[in-house]
Amino acid sequence: MGTDITGRFAPSPTGRMHLGNVMCALLSWLDAKSTGGVWRLRIEDIDRQRCKREYAMQLIDDLLWLGLPWDGEVVWQSERSEIYQQYLDYLTDLGLTYHCNCTRNDLLASSAPHEADGRIVYPGTCRDKGLSEGAVRIRVPERLEATNGDFIVQRRDGTWAYQLAVVIDDALMGITHVVRGRDLKTSVPQQEFLYDVFGFCKPKFLHHPLLCNMTGQRLCKRDRSLDLGILRKKYLPEEIIGYLAYRTGLVRDYSAIGVKELLDVFSWCKIPDGDIMIDGDCLPVSVGPSSENLSS
Ligand code: GLU
Repeated sequence: MGTDITGRFAPSPTGRMHLGNVMCALLSWLDAKSTGGVWRLRIEDIDRQRCKREYAMQLIDDLLWLGLPWDGEVVWQSERSEIYQQYLDYLTDLGLTYHCNCTRNDLLASSAPHEADGRIVYPGTCRDKGLSEGAVRIRVPERLEATNGDFIVQRRDGTWAYQLAVVIDDALMGITHVVRGRDLKTSVPQQEFLYDVFGFCKPKFLHHPLLCNMTGQRLCKRDRSLDLGILRKKYLPEEIIGYLAYRTGLVRDYSAIGVKELLDVFSWCKIPDGDIMIDGDCLPVSVGPSSENLSS
């Protein structure tokens, strides 16, 4: 029985997927598939300096290995420049954009970091300068000035900004449920503002806790120890999925489990609010490929 839910996983191929990225994919897949919905894959490779095709291909292979297939064609942001340009032109025609040539150091010197998370809120330095080059910013309404500031929609070197591309793509792909880490929660006001300006229907935004190391830092692609290149050598996909299901509270005890078995037990109510600490270099429960759990 299908529903109208369309979810998506939108990774940036800047390195090998790690356990935290797998958790994001798994929760988003379960959110869509537990109600018979559609789950799409979009590779967010607009930043040509940081993204590599090779990482994207590994990511695709890792998702299939984990048992998380997507629906339809893979969408590549690097192929959608013309679309982003059309929407940027629309913003410009509305008189909402302007160029800015402030450097990061200018901003650090002139603005106070955001209280909640240390982000720098742009103080509007170039708003009325009428510059003809530089990064392109969008004028936000007064209610967003203190918390978000006029944000960048196209970088100085022409690279499309995440905020612009993500909204256009989610809307055009018909995404109804955006599931991602709580580190992206601060982007919601900017994105909702763009949804309103473009007249798009807003999705539901759902944020999950992050996986952190024991010092409380979230896992990142630089920490190689929990990336799939290493995990795939030591564990079966069911062991990785079973471990994540256990740590996110979807099941009470650890056992190897396939993604489909989680469809019936998935519920957002079970997911903890706080971040999830991961100890050490490997999954604490290592049953290994010859485990009895799997042969029974
Ligand atoms: N591409 C972003 C990332 O990998 C995620 C974007 C999103 O889910 O909105 O962090």
